[in-house]
Amino acid sequence: MQIARTKQEVRDAVAAARSEGLSVGLVPTMGALHEGHMSLVRRAVEECDYSVVSIFVNPTQFGPGEDLEAYPRDLETDAKLCEGEGVNLVFAPSVEEMYDSNSCTVVSVKGLTEGLCGAHRPGHFDGVTTVVCKLFNIVQPDRAYFGLKDYQQFVVVRAMTRDLDIPVEIKGCPTVREEDGLAASSRNRYLNERERRAAPKLYEALLAGARAAREGATGREVERVVAEVLGQEPLFRPQYIRAVDPETLTPLGDSSGPMVIAAAAYLGDTRLIDNVTVEG
Ligand code: AMP
Repeated sequence: MQIARTKQEVRDAVAAARSEGLSVGLVPTMGALHEGHMSLVRRAVEECDYSVVSIFVNPTQFGPGEDLEAYPRDLETDAKLCEGEGVNLVFAPSVEEMYDSNSCTVVSVKGLTEGLCGAHRPGHFDGVTTVVCKLFNIVQPDRAYFGLKDYQQFVVVRAMTRDLDIPVEIKGCPTVREEDGLAASSRNRYLNERERRAAPKLYEALLAGARAAREGATGREVERVVAEVLGQEPLFRPQYIRAVDPETLTPLGDSSGPMVIAAAAYLGDTRLIDNVTVEG
């Protein structure tokens, strides 16, 4: 497995693979790889002849006061995990390599980025779409793999790819969870023992909302159910709880039907997000 630090190394390696007629898959990550990431990696390795994992803690998607400096970084362990799964190339650029000092272009998706996490993290999705667009241009993959745990991110990246005619197929992969239901996340390691014990309540609350939705509850009623169950755990400070249309991400309000129930909540200083989908 090759570890590339520069865009040119990636371009050369991918060009060589392409000249052999190999299909190329990309898994964009910020590293500190866990089972959630690895499920995407395994799928890429399974479905593509040549798999690339990018590991880059992208500063432009962090807001002031967020955890950019504290964000866990462990390239050595990450690279070993990738190698163990049969990944061909890890791309781990520096910030300077990724962003030209005169960089002045931002890729911005409208509408879909305004609610949910976008409402609470101004500029976050511009950072995500800009870096993902750059990674698509550097790697030029046939397929790229994203976790449905970050549902809004998946929908936003899919829209960007469609709108900018980027020839890459976007694959959404199901959320991987710990045994007690907590969605795997690099940020889980910030939780202390007490917070970690409380954390599965978020998924439990979303599941209660999903049950209500299947019994015909409206978006607003579903949100109330989720808030009530989450409220049973006083350590949680909810940031938003929303039942939204799976395609447009607009709140269902007084309608019922297929929905994604998404929530963000703080446990101490740690912000957790999760969602469940209720099919029609
Ligand atoms: P991150 O390193 O947090 O930027 O995540 C990189 C990719 O892994 C994103 O597409 C995430 O949605 C995905 N991911 C993170 N956690 C999980 C999980 N628990 N299950 C599935 N995918 C995940």
